[in-house]
Order: sequence, then structure tokens, then C-alpha cells
Amino acid sequence: MRILLVEDEPSAATMLAKGLREDAYAVDVAADGETALAQAFINDYDLIILDVVLPGKDGFRVCRELRTNHLTVPVLMLTARDAVEDRVEGLDSGADDYLPKPFDFEELLARVRALLRRKPALYPDVITVGDLSVDTRARRITRAGQRIDLTAKEYALIEYLARRDGEVVSRADISEHVWDESYDPFSKVIEVFIQRLRRKIDGGHRLKLIHTRRGEGYMLTTKGTDVDD
Ligand code: CA
Repeated sequence: MRILLVEDEPSAATMLAKGLREDAYAVDVAADGETALAQAFINDYDLIILDVVLPGKDGFRVCRELRTNHLTVPVLMLTARDAVEDRVEGLDSGADDYLPKPFDFEELLARVRALLRRKPALYPDVITVGDLSVDTRARRITRAGQRIDLTAKEYALIEYLARRDGEVVSRADISEHVWDESYDPFSKVIEVFIQRLRRKIDGGHRLKLIHTRRGEGYMLTTKGTDVDD
């Protein structure tokens, strides 16, 4: 899942981005409202974390412009203080939730998860595909009850495929939602990660869950045929 973090304070932005990346999110950072809007129009973010106090356009204005332009991406607003008028203005400007500063990072993660569960329908905390289970709270996966150790990026990729199980997911979608703006479209990085996941998840199992649709993308399903694999 890919997040746009809009925060002008460099140390706060660095700390939050680091924490979110450790939790397997792809994170782009914008330091002002104009940049944030430009990035939100180009990239299909799963969530925007938007600080209210920004140079130039503030968070309220950025949020209003997103909604005026029909972008429905969930917005979590970081309000400078727990003032009623800030919260009301945030929600009125189209934010889905707010978090007053200072906040506990665990609470930020919980709110991020809650907002991501809403899109596009209500997702359960634990997604299952056959005997594969993806616990999106604990960020842990098991197959046939056996815990599988994954890196943050491997986890992010399998979670994204699991959220869309039964659908062919294109490389473009994967690069957009699992990698951040540093992704190199000419690299083979997605293929490399798919191979690693195949080894870890499908290795030793007769029923393969990860399938390739040549020229189209990848699919996580119990009903795959091996024709294209
Ligand atoms: Ca700020």
C-alpha cells in the first residue's frame, strides 16, 4: 500500500516515513501543499497523511482541492492541536479522519490500517487465500499454519496481491501501490520479488497460489492453472 506523507518539518517527515516503511508501506514525501497536489494527481495513492500546518497552501486547502478534483483517496489529517475548530474544519474539508499532534506512532498505524480497510470495500484484518493467511495487523503470513518469514517489501507485495485475490494485477499497479517514486520501470525488481515469494510461499506445496499471466501481470488464487506459469 502506497502512502503520500505531506509534512514540511524535515525531522518529523523523516521519522514518520521511516516508521511507515518499516511497517511495509511504500512512502512518498511532499514538503508543501502544491507538491502534494501535483503528486496526488500523478500517482494513485492508497492513503494521504496530511499535516495541517504547511507553507503556502495549508492542509485544509489541499484536502478541499483533492475533493474538488474528485480524488477520493482516504485522507488522514494531522492537526496541530486538539482544537475542536481544527477537527471540524478538517472533516469539513473532506478528510476521513484526523489525529492531533503529538500522537503515538502506534495510534497513527492503527488509523492508517482502519482507513485502508475501508477502500474500496471493508477488508477483514486477516485475508485468506486457500490455506494462505495474511494478517494485516500483525503483518504476518502463514501457509497451512506455518509461519513464513518475509522482508517488509515481500510482505507488502503479497498483501497487495491478497487484497486483490482472484484478479490479475498488472506490473503497473504493483509498482504504483507497492513501490514508491524511486521505482525504476526498467528494472526487473517485481519479477525478482515474485520469484522469491514463489519460493517462500509455493515451495513444497502442490497447489500453487502465485500465478503469472504473461503480458498481463500476476494473480494470487487457488483456482489458477499452470498453463501460463
Ligand atoms: Ca507542518
